Amino acid sequence: VLDEPAMPTEFDIIRQLAEGQRVSRKEIRLGIGDDAAVLDIPDGYELVISTDTINQGVHFPDDTTPSDIGYKSLAVNLSDLAAMGAEPFAVNLSLSLPDADASWLEEFADGFLSLASQHRVQLAGGDTTRGPLSISVTVMGLVPVSKAMRRSTAKTGDSVYVTGTLGDAGAALMGKLGELKLNGPQDRAFSGRFNRPQPRVEAGIALRNIASSCIDISDGLVADLGHILEQSHAGAMVYVDQLPLSDSFREVFDLAGGWTVPLASGDDYELCFTVSDKDHPDWQNELASLGIPITCIGMIESQQGLRLLMPDGSVETPTHRGYEHFS
Ligand code: ADP
Ligand code: MG
Repeated sequence: VLDEPAMPTEFDIIRQLAEGQRVSRKEIRLGIGDDAAVLDIPDGYELVISTDTINQGVHFPDDTTPSDIGYKSLAVNLSDLAAMGAEPFAVNLSLSLPDADASWLEEFADGFLSLASQHRVQLAGGDTTRGPLSISVTVMGLVPVSKAMRRSTAKTGDSVYVTGTLGDAGAALMGKLGELKLNGPQDRAFSGRFNRPQPRVEAGIALRNIASSCIDISDGLVADLGHILEQSHAGAMVYVDQLPLSDSFREVFDLAGGWTVPLASGDDYELCFTVSDKDHPDWQNELASLGIPITCIGMIESQQGLRLLMPDGSVETPTHRGYEHFS
């Protein structure tokens, strides 16, 4: 008969995270173990830094596996750096845990650290406390001086693009809520997008010399492209029938009514960006050679606000009201 495993102490938790990681970056002069970490910023680069917190019940459903929680807490942060065009190199992890047992922690660390090693990001420090389950992650990245992409710099006449496909994570959530009937393969495809979004880090780095503005899509295309438009003091026309959809998505949705999902649902963590095609005639080849799918979905216009060119040729203005299902 096995004894109940003892609850890991704060020191056990820190040791497990420190020993579980396999990344060692030269920019990190001093990592976990002292009162603070020491980072080197190479000549010619700027430090790009971002924090996101995810809380149980708010940002992930209660039945999410510890490994998916670990993965997603880092993925959403890497997505913010991707949107800036930065190369991530260090991460701090602040954990508030109710009564975490050793196996919960092991799985969490596995999800978090495997994504960190995939992107060569070193865990440089953090904080560990007891409390309601909450995971706060701070990622740090490097970008050549003045090359960070912004939301505020789209120009009239630029084309609007997105990476990947839209709406799959929203479909996963609708399946969970019982609003959508999914078969096994569809459920797996959508849940994979929802629980394990792939931050577009490579695309962001490739785009920093090409895109005139960029944002990652965490709250839905209408909301996030809306941030670019507001901050750039511009408007846009989006060609709704050009929105990129996955095969599973097309199987499930009758597109007469299904456009709301790719337009308004969040959690896909694709990039939305603008390009002056005439200034960068061959840019699409570079992205294609990296195997990154991109789709032109619209055009920046001088008239403020977002307009949707619907498949029947009519033009609609998305109101907050029309999308409040997802708000
Ligand atoms: P202090 O009491 O000086 O704040 P801590 O005991 O909180 O130090 O942390 C000791 C070391 O362990 C520090 O280097 C800190 O960054 C690191 N650390 C603590 N919690 C975590 C964590 N969840 N992930 C990574 N490193 C952590
Ligand atoms: Mg200290």
